[in-house]
Amino acid sequence: MPATKRKPASPATTKASASENKLAKLGLRSDMDLVLHLPLRYEDETKIVPIRQAAFIAGSPAQVEGVVTECDIQYRPRRQLVVTIADDSGTLVMRFLNFYGSQTKQLAVGTRVRARGEVRHGFFGAEMVHPAYKAVDEGDPLPTALTPVYPAGEGLSQTYLRKAIANALKRVDWRDTLSPALLEQLKLAPFEASVKLLHNPPPDIDENALMERSHPAWTRMKFDELLAQQLSLKRAQEARRAKGAAALPVVGDLSGAFAAHLPFQLTGAQQRVLQEIRADLRQSFPMQRLLQGDVGSGKTVVAALAAAQAIDSGFQAALMAPTEILAEQHFRKIAQWMEPLGVKVAWLSGSLRKKEKTEAQAMIESGAAQLVIGTHALIQEGVEFAKLGLVIVDEQHRFGVGQRLALRNKGLEGDNLFHQQTVPHQLMMSATPIPRTLAMTYYADLEVSVIDELPPGRTPIVTRVVDQNRRDEVIERVHAAAQEGRQVYWVCPLIEESEALQLQTATETHATLAAALPDLQVGLVHGRMKPAEKQIVMDGFSRGEVHVLVATTVIEVGVDVPNASLMVIEHAERFGLSQLHQLRGRVGRGSAASVCLLLYQSPLGPVARQRLMTMRETTDGFEIARRDLEIRGPGEFLGARQSGQAMLRFADLQTDQWLVEKARDVAHGLLRDDPATVEAHLARWLGGREEFLKV
Ligand code: ADP
Ligand code: MG
Repeated sequence: MPATKRKPASPATTKASASENKLAKLGLRSDMDLVLHLPLRYEDETKIVPIRQAAFIAGSPAQVEGVVTECDIQYRPRRQLVVTIADDSGTLVMRFLNFYGSQTKQLAVGTRVRARGEVRHGFFGAEMVHPAYKAVDEGDPLPTALTPVYPAGEGLSQTYLRKAIANALKRVDWRDTLSPALLEQLKLAPFEASVKLLHNPPPDIDENALMERSHPAWTRMKFDELLAQQLSLKRAQEARRAKGAAALPVVGDLSGAFAAHLPFQLTGAQQRVLQEIRADLRQSFPMQRLLQGDVGSGKTVVAALAAAQAIDSGFQAALMAPTEILAEQHFRKIAQWMEPLGVKVAWLSGSLRKKEKTEAQAMIESGAAQLVIGTHALIQEGVEFAKLGLVIVDEQHRFGVGQRLALRNKGLEGDNLFHQQTVPHQLMMSATPIPRTLAMTYYADLEVSVIDELPPGRTPIVTRVVDQNRRDEVIERVHAAAQEGRQVYWVCPLIEESEALQLQTATETHATLAAALPDLQVGLVHGRMKPAEKQIVMDGFSRGEVHVLVATTVIEVGVDVPNASLMVIEHAERFGLSQLHQLRGRVGRGSAASVCLLLYQSPLGPVARQRLMTMRETTDGFEIARRDLEIRGPGEFLGARQSGQAMLRFADLQTDQWLVEKARDVAHGLLRDDPATVEAHLARWLGGREEFLKV
């Protein structure tokens, strides 16, 4: 069922087309888009209350109708428009503090108006401040349904939207995409009746069920939306399986030598996920696997072993990390592991000088570099691989949606990002665990491997929540730790509003700590430093020459210095849970008992308190993710602003989990038995937005 193009709702004047653009901005392009643009809430304009009675129910909104008896602009206490209306029962003042000159004409004495608002008792008796109003003729009929209030973009009036939607409701193809048998089995309401009810609910409807979106009409919408999402994800998965990838079957000399040279034994969990990855790489369709493991669980070495398999099989591998610091750290560590075994490792980042970049590109292009490590510069202009077999993305949740799309889709298309016939296998890594419902929806087309065990010999991190005014004691503690030969991270407060201010704070913190700890080396690293400068500081810290590292969140992911065992986070109340967890994960990487001090500024708000308590109570990344989801909701959890349209509009992954499971089962059946329905349902619900759901 192709989406019909929307005809203009009103004559094609310039004004109408400006509104059309605004509709398009809301993603409303076809009639069906409009029809599925459901109200946020409703206003009850179905009743008129006598003014006298409205005055008695002061505090809740009411609609009254009366004739204007006075209309004046007054100047005290400030300029305002004061309009008195009267019906048989009494009089009421409408007060407008902001108004246009034209309103004095609209509300001229003798005009009959309907006004909606809350009645208050003012100096002159009953009044409404800034009521919604419209001029009417005596006996004009009242609406018979609640009036919908739609989500609207800037400059788009409710009146225009209502009209456009009402027109679309008359034009669309109402065929139900679900068969009567399926509806019966799932106990779902029909599509047409549900949509129409939501746009124009009868006045006697259960308003709570409507507002809480538990009404059967809402349930149907949510189900349809989730079904579309499941279908789209499953199809993406099938499309991927249909693509060709080079099989990478050889676990040979390099893999063997590499494993033999490791200074430790892989944990059982690492071995298990490695087997899963190895099996995928042997296939001739592209792997799309997410490797999840809490911070410190040892994902890097698993990734390196996967890369070794690609190289053993005669292909190149690429490892991409979200920050320069992390990418560089991987480069050093992995090059140190692999170069003695005869592997050429190339480094590529945006900050390379032109000459270095050209050299790196030449090595990548000729195939001389078997392993390439870098930032997103890897997927940018002009990087051509000779024979890329495997792409590894570390901390994949940190990449922007655009970058993830580029990797996941362009890589899968004919003219693919890596300029070759076959598609590379992909391994994504993340320490941010995905709760079950999210895994079932947003990540449904990924295979998932989990490292659920930390390397042995780690002592759990003790977390303390400390009032900022005990900073002096904290500094003492830093000193004591350094005396014992341990190293310390000191994380500066996050200042989201201003990067300049954040830098200033970091510099100041560095200066005060350096002054307070004159016998220690205090280093500073922040996002505005040149990569080379950062590297000097990070190297000093890695070698143990810098005792205390003052840092912004640039150290949030991946940084691995096992001798660091104390972490201080200032203004911890400003950080999100997953960010705190990632930061804390920088310590507790060696065998020394580690401590994390969360400094806060009182008073603490309830949400911040909840976050800090969670941090104190658990170090389990899964538990933290679960609570994070609870506190923030899935939209925020996934970065709603970032993923934009990818978000579900109606279904709520927390309250509607039961529907997710049903939708998944139905999607399965439809894909197997009924491709026509799959097409129709996807066209109706996703139109052109399908791409976004896959990110
Ligand atoms: P993450 O999963 O957070 O990326 P890393 O890969 O950085 O973790 O590993 C954390 C630390 O644990 C590193 O210093 C790494 O060398 C070490 N490590 C990894 N696997 C093991 C193991 N099986 N035994 C001991 N140490 C390990
Ligand atoms: Mg890591």
